[in-house]
Amino acid sequence: MSFEKFGRVSFTSQAKISAFVDYLEQGELYTTHCHYCGITFFPPRADCHSCLGSEMDWRKITSKGSLISFTRSYFAPTGFEEDVPYVLAVADFEGTKVFGRFKEGFTEEDLSSGMEVTIEPVTHKNGQISYIFKPVS
Ligand SMILES: [Zn+2]
Repeated sequence: MSFEKFGRVSFTSQAKISAFVDYLEQGELYTTHCHYCGITFFPPRADCHSCLGSEMDWRKITSKGSLISFTRSYFAPTGFEEDVPYVLAVADFEGTKVFGRFKEGFTEEDLSSGMEVTIEPVTHKNGQISYIFKPVS
């Protein structure tokens, strides 16, 4: 699978970390971890900015995270205009910070910092795949 399937709108067709899309299609979110210095990257990276190494191990993001912060976006960049408003959030999954959208239908009034969240892969109407946050039920 090439990287062009990832994201609400794709701006990149090729990436060294295309396996990220394969994992996401299987319903799992993975990231990369530097084999040499131990830094974990999200979004996944193929090359480490710290040791300049390129030997990365894939690691599965844990199923439960903690919501750190969120905001409602009323204005969107090119390609996302029809989606607004939507909630953007960042959550901590055992030390790995993940940024993404919150599930449609949730507003900032439904959310609070520290609440347990999980990640759900989604397929959009145009066939693109990505992931969203949702509360742990
Ligand atoms: Zn490294």
